[in-house]
Amino acid sequence: MELKIFNSLTKQKQIVKPIDNTVNYYFCGPTVYWFQHIGNMRAFFVMDSIRRAVKYLGYKINHAMNITDVGHMTSDEDSGEDKMEVAAKREHRSPEEIAKYYWDICYQDMKDLNIETPEHICPATAVIDDIIKFIQDIIDNGYGYITKNGVYFDTSKYADYGKLGGMNQNEKKFGARIEVDDEKKNPADFVLWVIAKDNHIQKWDSPWGVGYPGWHIECSTIGNKFLGEHIDLHGGGIEHKTVHHENEIAQNFAKCGHQVVDIWFHLEHLMFDGGKMSKSKGAIYTLSSLKEKGYSPMDLRLFYLSAHYSKPQNFTFDALNSAKDSYSNLKKLLLRHKQGKNKIEKSKLETYEQKFAEYVADDVNAPLTLSVMWDALKNNPESADIYNLILKFDKFLGLRLDEVKEEKISIPDEIIKIAEERKRARINKDYKTSDLLRDEISLLGYTIVDKPNNEYEIQKS
Ligand code: AMP
Ligand code: ZN
Repeated sequence: MELKIFNSLTKQKQIVKPIDNTVNYYFCGPTVYWFQHIGNMRAFFVMDSIRRAVKYLGYKINHAMNITDVGHMTSDEDSGEDKMEVAAKREHRSPEEIAKYYWDICYQDMKDLNIETPEHICPATAVIDDIIKFIQDIIDNGYGYITKNGVYFDTSKYADYGKLGGMNQNEKKFGARIEVDDEKKNPADFVLWVIAKDNHIQKWDSPWGVGYPGWHIECSTIGNKFLGEHIDLHGGGIEHKTVHHENEIAQNFAKCGHQVVDIWFHLEHLMFDGGKMSKSKGAIYTLSSLKEKGYSPMDLRLFYLSAHYSKPQNFTFDALNSAKDSYSNLKKLLLRHKQGKNKIEKSKLETYEQKFAEYVADDVNAPLTLSVMWDALKNNPESADIYNLILKFDKFLGLRLDEVKEEKISIPDEIIKIAEERKRARINKDYKTSDLLRDEISLLGYTIVDKPNNEYEIQKS
């Protein structure tokens, strides 16, 4: 089945058409200067959903993600200070230590959320030579110019600049980037290489002076290095649409002379308290803080799955609690099916599979895939066929359902004592006492399930 994704550039759903059945996929990674909150993690969950959708529908994948460990200014435009330098000063550590510390936590959170590891994960600082070559190509092809402060991209040379964000060059937003450099030719021009001030920590030699790369050039370079000149799918947060991705498009065109990315997709934000969950606002949760409150990463994953990536998702504890209850119910139902002896008609199973795949293929509609899963779980007699079907769905859902096991619960001595007393009553055919004792057990929060020969099993209600 063909995968269709909504292309933010053409504003239409577009079929992914990979060469040799391998989807080249790029997603903008984290800036590792602080903890990634659950808003950021929604971005990486979406990255993973799209990746899983590609694989679910039978394509191969070649997936690259950057780690921004230099050059991302406190404003997404070129103004302010480098976030890594700010963090290094704040924490009295080197930028390398900062990057390692926060990336390690982010990576662990990704693993906990069952986010598959991209084939290529690359920090910007590992490819400075490639970045310098990329910038040189941009200059040689007539799209870049040198000033006393560094190297700029000349946006007037790229006619389609502003198309993705739907703006023209003179719009104020781009003008905000002018700032310090009066040698800039156009307000929208953006920095490729910054000449470092004396006290700047992260800096490298370059043909244009000692300095560091701008933020946008790292993604173009890393995409080009690992995926080449044809990228089927490129994604990131919605705020990247008007600046960061606009600039990537221009850089790629300047180097390659053609469009590199086929489909651009953007995810909407996780909202909290009426606004985007963001570090600058302070009101954030991380995966660890949710774990401390008793939620599991899969509770959060199920919560994420309940909204389409292109819609904002509101975070509330009510919604998370309901995801937690749903996950526990899902496990219970799944285990019942695992033991089930009923047979389900092949055509019925195929209809479920077909529906599920259609929803995956139609712009990765996770909420609708969940509805197929619940339908299959709830509206069928207990059957291992359903269990196997759901495990197949889980290749897309990523809810670790193959790891779900019967939980061994420890039964309090008091309950065992009553159950044994009831067993004796049953042996003596004293069913009245037996029923009274069953009710007593039930009031204490346990259920007794009778087995042959007066044996029994106790379950938590
Ligand atoms: P950053 O580390 O700030 O560069 O962000 C990493 C990723 O998280 C980017 O793709 C952002 O677009 C995304 N992001 C940041 N805040 C949110 C949010 N509240 N909801 C969803 N994604 C977000
Ligand atoms: Zn990027």
